[in-house]
Amino acid sequence: MAIRDIITLPDPRLRLESTPVGKIDEALRALMDDMLQTMYDAPGIGLAAIQVAVAKRVVVVDVAREEEEPNPIRLINPEIVWTSEETSTHEEGCLSIPEFYGDVERPARCRVAYLDDTGERREMDCEGLLATVVQHEVDHTNGVLFIDHLSKLKRDRIVKKFSKAKKRESAA
Ligand SMILES: [Zn+2]
Repeated sequence: MAIRDIITLPDPRLRLESTPVGKIDEALRALMDDMLQTMYDAPGIGLAAIQVAVAKRVVVVDVAREEEEPNPIRLINPEIVWTSEETSTHEEGCLSIPEFYGDVERPARCRVAYLDDTGERREMDCEGLLATVVQHEVDHTNGVLFIDHLSKLKRDRIVKKFSKAKKRESAA
């Protein structure tokens, strides 16, 4: 297992639509192990493959609290197949948009269909924090970031801030 580099705003790859996984093999399982290690190291509670520059529809999630046993969830080709009408608002952050947080309103509950790491098709009902994280990560597989759910004003401000920082970095 290895910790991989997480790409950050304004890296254009974050806007890619990831491609579905065809074959679940050792390389894919190794990728998911790396993603989990990278996520725990960050630390974070969800990570999509595109955040480590792999444009595949793969997501890992673990919303276990610190005092609980780790509960890693690996989602291959995840798809939100149902959302509740009821919404809830959580403060979200993103490992690809470091140190920025914003309130995002999303469906309070959702159902995600996916393949597990043996290739079996499964569905999972999500609520609370898990529902938020799963929707956030599935957004990543479609090139969507949580800042897209904020007002245009807020989004433009944060994109500008990260673009400026990037310029300073490359000038240095
Ligand atoms: Zn994210």
